Amino acid sequence: MSRRFDRLTPYTPGEQPVDKPYVKLNTNESPFPPSDKAIAAAKAELERLHLYPDPTCGKLRGALAQRYGVTPDRVMVGNGSDEVLSFAFMAYGDAGVAYPDITYGFYSVFADLYGLDAKVIPLREDFSVNVEDYKGLGRTIFIANPNAPTGLCLTLAEIEEIVTANPDNVVVVDEAYVDFGGESAVVLTDKYQNLLVTGTFSKSRSMAGARLGFGIACPSLIQDLETLRYSTNPYNVNRMTLAAGWGQLADEETTRQNCQTVMDNRAYTTEKLTEMGFDVIPSCANFVFATCPKIEGKALYLKLKEAGILVRHFDTERLKEYNRITIGSRAQMDALLTAIKTILEA
Ligand SMILES: *Cc1c(COP(=O)(O)O)cnc(C)c1O
Repeated sequence: MSRRFDRLTPYTPGEQPVDKPYVKLNTNESPFPPSDKAIAAAKAELERLHLYPDPTCGKLRGALAQRYGVTPDRVMVGNGSDEVLSFAFMAYGDAGVAYPDITYGFYSVFADLYGLDAKVIPLREDFSVNVEDYKGLGRTIFIANPNAPTGLCLTLAEIEEIVTANPDNVVVVDEAYVDFGGESAVVLTDKYQNLLVTGTFSKSRSMAGARLGFGIACPSLIQDLETLRYSTNPYNVNRMTLAAGWGQLADEETTRQNCQTVMDNRAYTTEKLTEMGFDVIPSCANFVFATCPKIEGKALYLKLKEAGILVRHFDTERLKEYNRITIGSRAQMDALLTAIKTILEA
């Protein structure tokens, strides 16, 4: 292997154990299946699998453009938003990059992969982003909004402050969780040439297994990313996924209802956990980040796993007393709450 990858630590995906059936609340997937329209559209592609997919992803880009009120030349699609983010690190890394110390774990992996100079900016004690820390950095900035694993979000005005304070650098806003209560910055992409917003079908649109993400920006940024996409794999999104994505977008009302259900279940879970003595960070995402003074974070994670419930635990100094719990169906949340009650009583 090339020497430059000697010290690369790859991203650790959430565990997917198969020893028994689990209530899976560890990777922020949707508890709902994709739309019938997505399933039908993907199935219809099966008999065309002998043909390459459309490298321009034209039909899906058109649908995304319409959904977000932009022109198709301001949209690109990727194999998950991870791929779009990867292209952004590749394209705009020369100035160095900056992101919070507690955020999506892939940012530091991409920075290492591309050998970039990374400025890692600590969140405040309460895990919030201090906008002042992101002004005039002279670096490409990556902000997950809402942030993970905290679930906290910045307002659109705060995002705009960061974008205007870095006119000569690209600001990437990763909106993987925006549909669960955040404000999208897509509306700013018309006004600012240095803003790239990424989105995904993995969380709110129930398509994590299909791998589909997108980027929205001014046409020249999209051109940069397309150059890298065509230099890596012009067929990065397969036929079934392109079709499923189009079908899913034709059913935004279902997506909206599903998000509302998740938000209702989030309020319910937050209330019940708080009653049991947890400190739950107010979340704008499809997960909550919670800690309980009655039990160590790791012990709770392990006991829940024993009970057949998976949540995400991060074994770092600042996060180890917390667990990130995906918000699923009401039945899944009740299973979690019952298990936690039993654990705390033991
Ligand atoms: C899940 C997630 C992504 C990536 O999702 P894809 O499945 O690759 O589209 C990106 N950013 C954050 C913050 C995420 O949580």
